[in-house]
Amino acid sequence: MNINDLPLNQLNSKSHFVIFGTGHLGVVCLNALRALKIEPSAFCDSNPDSCNTQLLNVTVKTLQQTASEHRDAVFVIAAFRHDVRDQMCKLLLDNMKDNGTFEAYFPMSLFKWYYINHVKRPIILSEFEDTIRRCFTEEGNDYNVDTSQVHINQHCTLLCKHCSNCVPYLPVRRHENSDEIIATVQGFCEIIDSVRTLTLVGGEGLLHPEIVKIMEGITKCSKVMAITIVTNGTWIPNDDVFIAMSRFGIALRISGYKDVSDKIDELASKCIEFGVVFFREARSNTFINYGTIQQQINGFKRTYEENIIVFNNCIYISREHTRVGTSILARGRWYLCDRYVILANLGAIDENTLDGTGFVSVIKNVDKQDDRKKQFLNAIMCECLPVCDHCKFPQTVIPAGEQLTCSGS
Ligand code: SF4
Ligand code: SF4
Repeated sequence: MNINDLPLNQLNSKSHFVIFGTGHLGVVCLNALRALKIEPSAFCDSNPDSCNTQLLNVTVKTLQQTASEHRDAVFVIAAFRHDVRDQMCKLLLDNMKDNGTFEAYFPMSLFKWYYINHVKRPIILSEFEDTIRRCFTEEGNDYNVDTSQVHINQHCTLLCKHCSNCVPYLPVRRHENSDEIIATVQGFCEIIDSVRTLTLVGGEGLLHPEIVKIMEGITKCSKVMAITIVTNGTWIPNDDVFIAMSRFGIALRISGYKDVSDKIDELASKCIEFGVVFFREARSNTFINYGTIQQQINGFKRTYEENIIVFNNCIYISREHTRVGTSILARGRWYLCDRYVILANLGAIDENTLDGTGFVSVIKNVDKQDDRKKQFLNAIMCECLPVCDHCKFPQTVIPAGEQLTCSGS
C-alpha cells in the first residue's frame, strides 16, 4: 500500500479517523486533529497491553476490533519510518478477513501545521520545515539522525537497584551546566541535517533547577523536530515547567515502575490541564541487565574480537541510516552509546583519556580544521566501542524499578 501525505484541506471531507499508533507521534497527531476541531474515533495499537484502555479520552482498540468496527475510517499511520508504516498497514490488512482495502495516510502536513502553528517554538521556519520533510521522507542521508538522548543530570527521586544509569552507585550526583547542555545540542546541529527526536534524560530530568532554560535553549534549534523528556512518574514539577513544555511542544515520556511510580495520574492530569503532549512509556516495564555494578566498573576482560560480537549483537545499536538507539549528547560530545557517559560518571573510565572511538566533540574548535562531520561518520561506523567490555552479554531483561533501601536525592 502506498501511504501518501494527508493534505490539510482534505481533512474535513473525511468521515472519521482512527490513529494507528499510541506512541509520541500518535499523541501529537491526536492533539493536532483536536486543534483542528476533529475528534478521532479510536486509537489502534498492535501492542495487546495497551488495548481496551483510554488514551486522552480516546479508546485504544485491538487490530481485530479496529478492522471489524472501523474499516471505513481514514487511518492515520503515526510512525516516523516508512518500513514501520508499511508493517502497520499490513497488520491491518491481515486482520481484515476478506482482504479488503482501507484508506491510510501519513499526516506529514498535519504534523507540519501542528508544530509550526500550534507549538510556539522560536525557530527559523524555513529550516524547521526542511527538518520535518527530511524526518518523514527518510532521505538517505547519514546526517539525518533518528534519535539522540541529551544527558542533563544524575539526581533522581528513586534508587533503582538495576538503574541503567547506575544512579545509586555514583560517587557524586550533579545537575549538568545548562549553558553547556544547550551549546552541546547547538554544536550537534551544526554537524547534522536533522534529528527526529531529542530526549532529555537523567537521573530524573524534571529535577534540574534550570530545566525551563534548557528546554527553551534546545527548542531554538531548528534542526530538531521533536523533543521529549523522560520522567519516572514520581515527581510533579512546578507549573512553569508544564507551561514551557506546552509552549515548546515538548512531550513528557512517563515511565511507570509498578508501585514506585506513584504520581503518574497526577502528572497526566497536569499535562491535560496545560496542554502538554504526554505518553506512558511501555518499554519502561523492564530494565536491561548490564551486569553487577562491579562487573560494569571493572569490565568483563573480553578480547577486542569478542567485544565486536557483543557490539554487533547489542539490542540498541543499528547503524542503518544513523539510527543510533542509545546515542547521547553530553558535555560537548556526541557518543554513539550512553554507556560512555554512565561509566565516566561512575569513575570506571576517564572521559579525558578516551581515544576518540565512537564519539565526536561537537563544539567547534576554532584552532583546528573543522572535520566534525567526518568524525561523526567515523563514530557511527566504528566496529566496536571500548565500553562494550563493560556490558553483560547476552543482554537480558529484568523487572523494572526494584529499589535499594536508602533514599535518593
Ligand atoms: S528512576 Fe531509577 S532507573 Fe531511572 S534514573 Fe532514577 S534510579 Fe535510575
Ligand atoms: S556499550 Fe556496547 S554493548 Fe553496551 S549498550 Fe553500548 S553498544 Fe551496546
